[in-house]
Amino acid sequence: MKLHIPFDNSYARLAPVFYSKQAPEPVKSPTLIAFNQDLAQMLGISPGENDEMAQVFGGNQLPKGAEPLAQLYAGHQFGSYNPQLGDGRAVLLGETVGIDGQRRDIQLKGSGRTPYSRRGDGRAWLGPVLREYVVSEAMHALGIPTTRALAAVATGDIVQRERGLPGAVLTRVASSHLRVGSFEVFARRGDIHSLKQLTDYAIQRHYPQAVGPMDLLRAVRDAQSKLIADWMAVGFIHGVMNTDNSSIAGETIDYGPCAFMDRYHPQTVFSSIDRNGRYAYDNQPEIAVWNLAQLATALIQQLDDPQQAVEQATEIVHAMPALTQQHWEQNFRAKLGLSSAHAEDLQLISELLSLMAQNQSDFTNTFRSLATGGGGDHFADRAGFARWQARWQARLADEPDSQALMLRSNPAYIPRNHQIEQMIAAAVAGDYALFHRLNQVLAQPFAQQPDQADLRLPPTPDQVVPATFC
Ligand code: AMP
Ligand code: MG
Ligand code: MG
Repeated sequence: MKLHIPFDNSYARLAPVFYSKQAPEPVKSPTLIAFNQDLAQMLGISPGENDEMAQVFGGNQLPKGAEPLAQLYAGHQFGSYNPQLGDGRAVLLGETVGIDGQRRDIQLKGSGRTPYSRRGDGRAWLGPVLREYVVSEAMHALGIPTTRALAAVATGDIVQRERGLPGAVLTRVASSHLRVGSFEVFARRGDIHSLKQLTDYAIQRHYPQAVGPMDLLRAVRDAQSKLIADWMAVGFIHGVMNTDNSSIAGETIDYGPCAFMDRYHPQTVFSSIDRNGRYAYDNQPEIAVWNLAQLATALIQQLDDPQQAVEQATEIVHAMPALTQQHWEQNFRAKLGLSSAHAEDLQLISELLSLMAQNQSDFTNTFRSLATGGGGDHFADRAGFARWQARWQARLADEPDSQALMLRSNPAYIPRNHQIEQMIAAAVAGDYALFHRLNQVLAQPFAQQPDQADLRLPPTPDQVVPATFC
């Protein structure tokens, strides 16, 4: 085999209680759709022939050094605890330590049934696989921590959903797949020994400077508060912020019904299963605190002095909203070209967002227009915008390099829902041109790319995608 993956596995060295050994289930006729050369290089992987890579990343052939397993976890889904989730359609092949010295998981998603599949088929269809490929790579290019996509393979099998759909497997790369739910499962079972082992493992792997569970909690809080503020700054709505989709490493994980907003409205929801808007755009900072509280509840079970542990954990969790707010203000200041902090900035930001909500302005294009001297086109209430603009211009007088800052803080290109849907429809019909084009353009979201400007257009009324599905 020419393909070489320099596996260096650590999770498989943990006690068997943390996983089930599980090989991927073979597929009918795997063909390689995409392989991420840049990411492969960073991971230390030497690519092989396309056929060989299709066999490996479709799950038909195990590469040397792989120790496939399905990870156990639990989680709170829409606020209710589910004691047994786990990788129901994914297997971890193993880890590599990349040329940057970072350890990362290599996981196949859609690779067949596992002991945690419950009633699921263990499979994924082409649509969500391509969606996750494009959106996770776009997120990375936007500079936001995220899992990444190494490969996409069409399986040649039909997956049964509302109708029969072409099957696919995504190879996902993550700093790890440890989630809040990975800890909840052992805390709830009262398996303190395993809880301690996992805590030590997470500290060693992600936050080696942390000393003990409360330090880990603090580190996760800091990473998550920055992550959520980053999402807010690009209009991203995760859609399923359950505790099993909340990463200990602070990466965006599990691209299901996620979406980037077109028109700005703080209560925007896309996910068809989020009926009460629990995971609406504006609720995300609060939900991240709720998720951190679940992690705190799990972690404190291992501490000897419960009274003291509760006090400490409470203090750590309660500090999160202010931290997220700090990151949020810094991000939105940058979007307005403000590198220094003035007391009136928050009001300037809030008033712009209110105007945008009233005028149903396109989130991405409005901010990008401000960076290039425009903006007015996005407001039916021109006079209202002009009043705001005059105050902003006055504030900008103190900022020497505002335009450069704005051009690198306001993307021109985001993965828009209607384009993703068009891309999927074309791919199902066998045409991958838009998939490849989106990957290429979204790799440089802050670049002008004048010949790609059609991808900056918001959806026409008949192109709007009102709901997304898992
Ligand atoms: P999610 O909502 O994507 O975070 O998934 C929640 C749980 O459902 C996880 O344990 C998944 O592994 C599992 N799951 C999702 N889709 C499938 C499927 N098609 N087959 C088996 N398990 C699945
Ligand atoms: Mg999940
Ligand atoms: Mg999912």
